[in-house]
Amino acid sequence: TRLANQIAAGEVVERPASVVKEVLENSLDAGATRVDVDVEGGGVKLIRIRDNGSGMPPDDLPLAMARHATSKIVSLEDLEAVGSLGFRGEALASIGSVSRLTLTSNADEEGSGGNSASCEGRDMDVVVKPAPHPQGTTVEVRDLFFNTPARRKFLRTEKTEFNHLEEVVKRLALSRFDVAFSLRHNGRTIHQLKSGTSQAEQQRRVATVCGPAFMEQAIYVENEVPGLRLWGWVGLPTFSRSQADLQYFFVNGRVIRDKLIAHAVKQAYRDVLYHGRHPAFVLYLELDPALVDVNVHPTKHEVRFRDGRSVHNFIFSSLHRALADVRPADQLP
Ligand code: ADP
Ligand code: MG
Repeated sequence: TRLANQIAAGEVVERPASVVKEVLENSLDAGATRVDVDVEGGGVKLIRIRDNGSGMPPDDLPLAMARHATSKIVSLEDLEAVGSLGFRGEALASIGSVSRLTLTSNADEEGSGGNSASCEGRDMDVVVKPAPHPQGTTVEVRDLFFNTPARRKFLRTEKTEFNHLEEVVKRLALSRFDVAFSLRHNGRTIHQLKSGTSQAEQQRRVATVCGPAFMEQAIYVENEVPGLRLWGWVGLPTFSRSQADLQYFFVNGRVIRDKLIAHAVKQAYRDVLYHGRHPAFVLYLELDPALVDVNVHPTKHEVRFRDGRSVHNFIFSSLHRALADVRPADQLP
């Protein structure tokens, strides 16, 4: 069935970055306002993610690692309506089956106590032991794919794996200005992002995550029509990033890669002044959740708009106007 396939498709832990994505999303679902990510060896050797979210009571620890135990999905309607990032109840079970997984958590607001539980590969004999932890959860994933050499073979270099993992952290950091993030690799601090939702604080985070060169030339865009709001930063058409794309588009707070959106953005650039470079942007589209289906694919990078045409037109015209406004006179056609 469609539901079963949608659920199964998201099951696979492909690389360290997929682990970080699932674990970070759980932290955000748990209401964390601060998340610290510590990795070693590109995330293959160790991924440790600590949050200050709601935490889990001791009895929930083995359940959290068990397959389907926590699935919140009962029907396809549920799948469409679900608001939280996690929805399959599979991620920790999948991660645990290919690594040495330890959860340490404390659901007590006083922050006293805490418990931990571990599992190793398919060995699901989970024992819960007392372990001190402030309110929140630490998820530790060691030796990813230690028991699945076939998958380990598909891992790339430490640097490549870390880059993928860092990209996941960047995307979530750009989607949640209200949450503090840190990222360390092999003991070195890579990102240290304070929380803050004022425009100045948001701008500072974007500059840190995307590089000061982007922010120095970017323009702030904001446009609203009934039911649709677009805001964020767009690089001028003359700004180019030689290799990696700097293209972030969030729909209702979730990063999206969508043909319709990409087309609208590209059109706007091309129409104003476009030298065939990749446009750089960090943009946020907000619309009535009923008008968008984010669960087209379980990884949720795809969306389906009820009225794609008006979304396209809105993005195009918002960007077109903003870019045309700043076009230097000597570059007019
Ligand atoms: P899902 O997120 O789809 O429910 P997961 O396997 O990712 O499935 O997580 C299983 C469950 O473990 C979650 O539903 C949640 O109840 C609990 N959990 C996982 N991580 C955390 C966390 N950081 N803080 C609190 N609870 C968590
Ligand atoms: Mg989850």
